Amino acid sequence: MLYIKKENEPGFLIDFKKKYPQKDYDSPEFAEYRPKLNQALIKEQKGICAYCCGRISEQKSHNEHIEPRHPGRHTSTKTLDYMNIVAACNNVRTCGRKKDNNYDKEKFVSPLDEHCEDKFTYYADGKIVGDDYTIDLLNLNDYELKNARKAVIKKLQNLDKDTINLVYMNEEDEEYQPYFNVIKWFWRTM
Ligand SMILES: [Zn+2]
Repeated sequence: MLYIKKENEPGFLIDFKKKYPQKDYDSPEFAEYRPKLNQALIKEQKGICAYCCGRISEQKSHNEHIEPRHPGRHTSTKTLDYMNIVAACNNVRTCGRKKDNNYDKEKFVSPLDEHCEDKFTYYADGKIVGDDYTIDLLNLNDYELKNARKAVIKKLQNLDKDTINLVYMNEEDEEYQPYFNVIKWFWRTM
């Protein structure tokens, strides 16, 4: 997980809420804005999933509500709250699809928590350890994810700190490298 610093709420979202104060994310009126919101979030997250940090694109992601849209019998009041929405990958075994409507606010480590990165570490075999509730809820130790992280670590192990910084951590890149969480953690612990 990487900390997501939320930018300003997009103008179209502010305008929509002004125009339709009673509507929510599921309203037909909002349907045309969903892709726009997705684009803004992907850009904000520099092209990686809010939870697993794998590469996402408009075709391969969705607007993920940290507090689910339908937690139990009621509908969340935060379905159009920009601070409650991130972009997540479409892998059905992990991340937002796996989390679905399950969520315990007290236990969940959110990518919007500026200390979230300190709550996880990684092993050379790709395993993530740290907050068990969040790891289980998002299934962050899914075999594919583990393998992907393992491959990243393997690639970095042959490089020195300056090279990693130069090649994989360029602040000016519009997109993060996939699994930038692992890269950042590896570099920091060198
Ligand atoms: Zn993901």
